[in-house]
Amino acid sequence: MTPNGTEYRPLTEEENRRHPFYGRPHYRPGLLFRCANPGCKKEFYAFHSKAQEIIGSNRYALCGNKECKRIISEIRRNERIDRALEGTDPWTDGLIVQHVWRRDKGTCQVCGRSDHDVNYETGHKVDEFLGGLFIPDNLTIMCYPCNRLKPPHETLKEYEMWAAHKQTLYPRLVNIGLNDHQVNAAIELFREMLSPRFIIRINKQ
Ligand SMILES: [Zn+2]
Ligand SMILES: [Zn+2]
Repeated sequence: MTPNGTEYRPLTEEENRRHPFYGRPHYRPGLLFRCANPGCKKEFYAFHSKAQEIIGSNRYALCGNKECKRIISEIRRNERIDRALEGTDPWTDGLIVQHVWRRDKGTCQVCGRSDHDVNYETGHKVDEFLGGLFIPDNLTIMCYPCNRLKPPHETLKEYEMWAAHKQTLYPRLVNIGLNDHQVNAAIELFREMLSPRFIIRINKQ
């Protein structure tokens, strides 16, 4: 087994004899690895130098199938996220976004939508211009309309009270029979009206 648990084995004598380079002066047999994707586990051959590289590193052995590569990079990413959550690995912006997406199950935390034809954003609960940080606790998945229509919040409590009441205009705009185009036009209009500067000025008066 490699450091991350990938299984491998030497060639049997019969397999060794069938190798195209068998008998050549510098021939060194490679190893047979099992694809690290738990759903695949296909056996594949790696030449001697490549095999040593895999064994010496913490890399997963992959059969070459694109789906296996995708699954393993997801597993790896989740491992890095878990280490960041434990505090043993640093967060990166990319990891934070992926963690928040996974934690919130790809669902808008304001209106509850998870349709595929909607754009989602990693939105700040306490807004950035009010000192809200780019950290998991202050971020949440919001669909584009909810994020754009979210009023500025200075504290988490303010945000939570707003989100609990699902006070987004989006469902209301749809409910009164506007089509997508009209909804988007309305959102753009409200976004201008709700620009941060505008709101700060009002709050200070
Ligand atoms: Zn595979
Ligand atoms: Zn939403």
